Amino acid sequence: MIIMPYKFKCADIGMNCGFSVKGTSPEELMPKIAEHAKTAHKIDEINEDLKKKVQGAIKKTMF
Ligand SMILES: [Zn+2]
Repeated sequence: MIIMPYKFKCADIGMNCGFSVKGTSPEELMPKIAEHAKTAHKIDEINEDLKKKVQGAIKKTMF
């Protein structure tokens, strides 16, 4: 069983969006979030501000 305790929800950074992603580390989530931002929100590049926002919204869960 692979435990993926880190979770990010797009809604947590104020997006009207149902996207969520899980991973084993915050580093693993970033490329997935970047890819989603690109395809779903037309954000080609995650700048420092957005990166901080995203990192702040990544939560560690028990499940
Ligand atoms: Zn989204």
